[in-house]
This record gives sequence, C-alpha cells and structure tokens, in this order.
Amino acid sequence: MKLSSRVEALAESATLAVTAKAAQLKSEGVDVVSFGAGEPDFDTPQHIKLAAIRAIEAGQTKYSKPATGIAAVKQAVCEKLARENELQYKPSQVIVTAGGKMACNLAIQALIDPGDEVIIPVPYWVSYPEMVKLAGGVPVFLEGDENDSFKFSPAALEAAITPKTRLLIFNSPSNPGGFTYHPAETQAIAEVTARHDMVVLADEIYDRLRFDGQAFQSFASSSSKAYEQTLTLIGASKTYSMTGWRAGYVAGPVPIIKAMAKLQSQSTSGACTFVQHGLIEALTGDQSEVERMRVEFEKRGAHIHQRLNALPGISCNKPTGAFYVFPNVSGTYSKLSVAGSIEFAKAVLEKAHVAVVPGIAFGSDACVRFSFACSMEQIDKGLDRLAEFLR
Ligand code: PLP
Repeated sequence: MKLSSRVEALAESATLAVTAKAAQLKSEGVDVVSFGAGEPDFDTPQHIKLAAIRAIEAGQTKYSKPATGIAAVKQAVCEKLARENELQYKPSQVIVTAGGKMACNLAIQALIDPGDEVIIPVPYWVSYPEMVKLAGGVPVFLEGDENDSFKFSPAALEAAITPKTRLLIFNSPSNPGGFTYHPAETQAIAEVTARHDMVVLADEIYDRLRFDGQAFQSFASSSSKAYEQTLTLIGASKTYSMTGWRAGYVAGPVPIIKAMAKLQSQSTSGACTFVQHGLIEALTGDQSEVERMRVEFEKRGAHIHQRLNALPGISCNKPTGAFYVFPNVSGTYSKLSVAGSIEFAKAVLEKAHVAVVPGIAFGSDACVRFSFACSMEQIDKGLDRLAEFLR
C-alpha cells in the first residue's frame, strides 16, 4: 500500500515507543520502573472535573462556536496571560486548540513553506523537527551548551540565522532539558530575534512548573518587538495534570492566529466544548493544587538529581523547571559496551527493568531523559536498580 512520502519520512515518537515497550513488559508481569512518562502522575483537580461534568449536563456538547474557542475561555486565557505572564492580549489574538501539540502543529503549518528554515535548539521536544518536516520546512539544529545546562547563547543563535530563517522555537522551561532561561537570558535572545524578520514560537507549556524560585519571563514580554513577532503557546496538560483532556492555547499576532484558525476549522473544528469549560475553571478557579504538584515536582527533581550524580559515569544538571532531568550517561557506554543512548536505554530496560528515553530522540545521543512524574518511592526503586546495574 502506498503511503504519502510526507508520512513515510516521519519518525515515530520515541517517547511513546519506550512507554509502549515498558507497557509490554509490564503486561508480561515484569515489574518495570518507568521514567518515560511525559505526563504528571497526579489526578486532574476535582473542581476542574466537576466544571466539565456540569458543562456536559448543561448540554455543552455541540461544536465549539467559534472553532477558535468559546468567548469565555479566550477571556480566561487573556486574564491568565496578563496575571501571570505580563502579557496583554485581546480575545481576537487567542486560539484554543485540542492540546499544546496541535497548537504547535497549527503554528508551524501556518508559517512554514517548503525550504523555510526553522531553528530548533538542541535538546528539543521530539515533535518539533517532525512537524517542521511535515510542513516541508528545514530544521536547523542549534546546539545548547552542556556546561550551561544545555542553553544556547545569543551569539550562537545569531550565527544560525540565514535569509531563509522563518521561525525560532524557544522552549522554556525545557522538555527534555529541565532548564529554564533566566529573564536576562531571554531578553538577550529577544534582542537577536528583534534584528531579523522572523517569528518566535515560545513554547511555555511548563511556565508554572519552576523550582527553587527560578525567575522566568515570557519571551513575548521581553520587548515590544518581541511581542509583535512571538506566538506564546501554553496549555492545561502539564500545569493542571490534564494531558488526556487535550486543552492548549496560543496567543499572538492576529494574522497568524487567523491562519491557524483557518487550518483548525478545516481539521479538528476546535477543542472539545466541555473541555473548554474545564479549562475556564482551571484558569480562573482555585490554584492551590497547582502549587501542591509543583512543590512535589521540586522535591523529586532535587532528589533524582542528587542520586543520578552519585552514579559512576553519569553527570546531571539540577532541574529548574518542567519534570525532567537529562543526564549525560556517555561515561557508562564503554563499560556497558553500548554504542549510544538507544542501546543504553534498551540495556537498562531489559536488564534493570528501568525505562528511560534515549537522548537521541531529543537530538543528544550522550544523554537520556528521566521524567520524575512518578512517586518518590518509584524514583528510589528505579535508581537503586540503576546503581546495582552500573556497579
Ligand atoms: N510542548 C512541550 C515542550 C511538551 O513537552 C509537550 C508535551 O509533552 C507539548 C508541547 C504538548 O502538550 P499537550 O499536547 O499534551 O498539551
């Protein structure tokens, strides 16, 4: 059967592949400790669930009108961005989507023509390069500096920009890096992009999950030029533990939002209507659960960082945001006789029954990603096994 060349060229999501292999072992009765998940292990807060249930009972079960999101949710997004991100947007500058991933895809499809270059800092979230390729664009990888928590410098960005550059994808706090750009660093990067005719897709989906008082500034709030050239992407998945609800949103320049709206109206017809009511409650209701989850992630991040650094051949930066660490494990490769991160992850899964995601999926074969969206007990159990395996 002939499939489209666009789809043939797509890589499967490596994160999903590891979770699937771990699930298969589990179904065979093996006790696997999984550090693979990209979703919080907490339940969605009850008041959000109840809001969606009430919406269903009130008959909010028809198409989203308009497809870009119902008026009340766009208003709630604008208020959230003003309150927490120092960003003033009007509802006409907002689109609500079926998850952050869809938001990202719509933005890339709306902006990228074949041959356009998209700068993707390494390590990157697995889906960015594939979405760019699907649009016919050319991913240009910008290496982060491992000695600076994998962040890239303004000078390195300047050197990567060419007349064909159309877009920079700027993800902070980072998946998989677990790092967060300081406001001064964000501003220095915004000074570079301001000199060029390009758009910035600021993926700030982990904006509320920051540790140890890590300062943060939304990219679009860096300057008036940054505001004009930036799409700010957030969503409910990570902050409110709502990954299965599929609730994302983007705010930015009206012409781009309108283009994304056109695409959305011809693809999904918008986010699920009663989910949007859940999103309103998430954004406007009690925020204490967010803080409870954040504090828990902060404790786990500090713990996993400390334990990983105690292992031979592994070095790990302390996470300042999201719920991932991205240690360099290449110091174990020769002892384990593995050639790279895929073989490392395979060996660890098969021999120690610990699931991690190979760093190559994020552009760095020296590293693997551990998600700490699992309990402290699971973290200790997994790290005990890893320590034993590496002895
Ligand atoms: N952006 C980043 C950096 C992510 O890590 C994810 C999810 O893993 C997303 C976007 C998409 O989130 P969702 O589609 O679950 O809302």
